[in-house]
Amino acid sequence: MPENIPGLKENSVNCYTAENAVEYYKQLSDFKGGRIVITVGLPHKCPMIPLEVTFAMHDFIKDRGLLDKTEFYYTYPIGRVHSLENVAKWAAPEFDAKGIKYETLFNMKEVDGKNACVRSEEGGEVKYDLLVAVPPHKGQEVIEKNGLGENGWIPTNRNSLHMEGEHGKNVIVLGDTTNLPISKAGSTAHFEAETAAENVAAVIKMGRPVKAYDGKVFCFIEAGKDRATYAMFNYQNPPQPKAPTGAVHAFKMAYNKLYWATARGLL
Ligand SMILES: Cc1cc2nc3c(=O)[nH]c(=O)nc-3n(C[C@H](O)[C@H](O)[C@H](O)COP(=O)(O)OP(=O)(O)OC[C@H]3O[C@@H](n4cnc5c(N)ncnc54)[C@H](O)[C@@H]3O)c2cc1C
Repeated sequence: MPENIPGLKENSVNCYTAENAVEYYKQLSDFKGGRIVITVGLPHKCPMIPLEVTFAMHDFIKDRGLLDKTEFYYTYPIGRVHSLENVAKWAAPEFDAKGIKYETLFNMKEVDGKNACVRSEEGGEVKYDLLVAVPPHKGQEVIEKNGLGENGWIPTNRNSLHMEGEHGKNVIVLGDTTNLPISKAGSTAHFEAETAAENVAAVIKMGRPVKAYDGKVFCFIEAGKDRATYAMFNYQNPPQPKAPTGAVHAFKMAYNKLYWATARGLL
């Protein structure tokens, strides 16, 4: 919903639709140097995107030979560079090592295209030459319109994954559409689906569910064009990202292809 922040849609690029991603690529390819500002709204799909786009752009600009003419300025809404504390602890030194500057407690208020600056609710103002946004998201309109959940997110039990309320007994909610305060990630949908499938089978076979979703999420984190690490966590255990390596990056690239083979039962 870039349109939810005045001036954001007209003055920024993002990677959230195929069309926007193409425009983003074009603008980054034509970039001649200056300040690239990364600005982040909440909630948003895929927790690692703010970090990944920043690291990926850094390496892309480096390959174009423009690093000494470019300043990266990362902003984030809360008081550290990522919502997950250990990911923030890992990412801040990575930013420092690459010379990426950052400002935390920066909640986008408006973008002033005429003066090429983004302002925050906290009173901050940052000038940009290229503004890269992770826009705030909202849930599906059909859910909100039919009174099924505020802002389009369905109230969901964090363990059984049933929809909360009188109509929820036979409704299981998966993926981005839940209102659970966990990552909106493909892996979240995948692990929730495992719980749901086992429970549907168990209810049919013996009349009761057998499994509770434990909040499991797994996210690769690309730390540039050829190194990556990962974060695996659940409701009880926070992630512990390690130093990024070429091997994890290679594994992620292979996994992108393998996932669909395993999901279809071919492997
Ligand atoms: C650029 C990008 C990178 C990402 N990278 C990662 C990653 O590396 N790892 C990871 O785990 N996650 C990643 N994610 C997040 C991941 O894609 C989502 O969390 C995941 O797709 C959510 O799955 P879902 O099935 O809940 O929703 P979706 O994939 O959004 O599917 C919902 C479907 O419902 C359809 N729909 C909507 N309204 C209606 C309607 N009224 N009637 C019928 N159909 C409707 C939509 O068209 C859509 O096909 C990324 C997301 C983006 C945008």
